[in-house]
Amino acid sequence: MKAEVKKEINIPLFDIREVGTVKDVRRGIARINGLPSCIYGQLVQLSNGVKGIVMGFTENDVMAIILGEDQNISVGDEATSLAELISIPVGNGFLGRVVNSLGEPLDGKGEIASVDAYPVFRDAPGVMEREPVIDPLSTGVKIIDLAIPIGKGQRELVIGDRQTGKTSICIDSIINQKNSGVVCIYCWIGGPQIALKKIIHTLQENNVFKNTVILSASADTSAAEQYLAPYAASALGEYFMYNGRDALVIFDDLTKHAWIYRQMSLLLERSPGREAYPGDIFYLHSQLLERAAKLKKEKGSGSMTFLPIAETLQGDITGYIQTNLISITDGQIYINSSLFREGFKPAIDMGFSVSRIGSRVQYPAIKEVSSGLRLEYSQYREMLRMTKLRTRLSDEAMKKMRRGETLHEILMQPNNCPVSTPEEICLFYAFSRGVLEPLDPGSLKAFMSEFFAYLQENDSALAVLIENKKDLTPEVKSGLDKNIAAFFRSLHERKK
Ligand code: ATP
Ligand code: MG
Repeated sequence: MKAEVKKEINIPLFDIREVGTVKDVRRGIARINGLPSCIYGQLVQLSNGVKGIVMGFTENDVMAIILGEDQNISVGDEATSLAELISIPVGNGFLGRVVNSLGEPLDGKGEIASVDAYPVFRDAPGVMEREPVIDPLSTGVKIIDLAIPIGKGQRELVIGDRQTGKTSICIDSIINQKNSGVVCIYCWIGGPQIALKKIIHTLQENNVFKNTVILSASADTSAAEQYLAPYAASALGEYFMYNGRDALVIFDDLTKHAWIYRQMSLLLERSPGREAYPGDIFYLHSQLLERAAKLKKEKGSGSMTFLPIAETLQGDITGYIQTNLISITDGQIYINSSLFREGFKPAIDMGFSVSRIGSRVQYPAIKEVSSGLRLEYSQYREMLRMTKLRTRLSDEAMKKMRRGETLHEILMQPNNCPVSTPEEICLFYAFSRGVLEPLDPGSLKAFMSEFFAYLQENDSALAVLIENKKDLTPEVKSGLDKNIAAFFRSLHERKK
């Protein structure tokens, strides 16, 4: 017997070919007799070139989930154990392509040139390989960049009810990486194909599809494919990370992933626990989300950031899967359906949302303009509730209300329109100077959409300085003050 240790995975795999027979095939799961040396996760070759992964054991048999169609597998077929664990081809050729959980193209554009194969289930980088998360990853969503900042290598959960804009926030984050050099991987699990088609269309329209990989395991694919999808997406992300690049991986969504795992586990005859989920459901997601990392310089300084999505029912974040995910990730962006119905979009609830990494991943200028913003906004919401009872307000309270209204207005943004970091700096600097409150809605809108372009045209040196340094030095501040005043003058003249 030859014991061979696979260096990357650290699991001893015995290179013995055993040949067993299929005893039973049911709903994508084959029960195989005669493979006594199989280990968990090992691949088996079934008839017609279809493979399976060993996922369960009984006293005499092993149970394998079938990767692909199970119609052509019959009782009595041969099943050969392979001395390998499941892997996915990787390479730069995957950018701009749509693939399944096995890395096979789904877009009909032909073969994808791969450079290597990465294990789908891989141990997360160890603590000595990592570096603290300090580099910002700008999402272009104003509320997130200012109040719940995300860093390269972080895991931030996006959680909320159905149809409240969870996917839109993540798509905005992808669109915002157009010129940032960050590679995006969008993993679609258990959703309808038509919705994915729309997302692909949005990415193409915004010219970011070419640096995105779409990994699709839609609702009509096998349970095995849906189960493997997030791990395969991480393996693709790891290829970029280990090659010194920054990757952003989105899992849309992990609640559906947990459902499919529950379904599979019940079919594998594992004993059900709370809400009929198997006992290892926490491990399922923690093993996955631990793979996000910011690597040390010696390892190439690459990073992999995760934005997993979780769905809630009626805003209940205390569900089993939801609490698990909240405890595993470095914070959550909570989307409130009543804010969405009120028209506050993106409907991010700043009170319930946190980033445990905090403001150390913000650019200095963003850090300066965002301090106190959360408090100011929550005070405004509180006052709004109070004023429903009180009609007369003091001058001071009126002023605060006006400021809150302006903040409310500038935090909103439509989907598919990410705001660049320099624009965010200019906008919130103007807000901190208190020059936006007197503006009427039309002028405020004009300021938000036109000011940075105006600055680039009239004071390009200052615009470049803000873009490169992202710091509010005294010269930048005085320059901005001057330009804001000049912009308002031009706006005034235009109106006349
Ligand atoms: P699902 O639960 O179906 O996955 P979701 O929470 O991912 O839904 P989205 O699909 O992102 O939600 O968005 C739902 C709807 O809200 C879409 O029609 C989208 O266009 C709209 N929407 C999302 N964000 C905004 C926004 N900032 N401004 C205006 N409309 C928005
Ligand atoms: Mg969605």
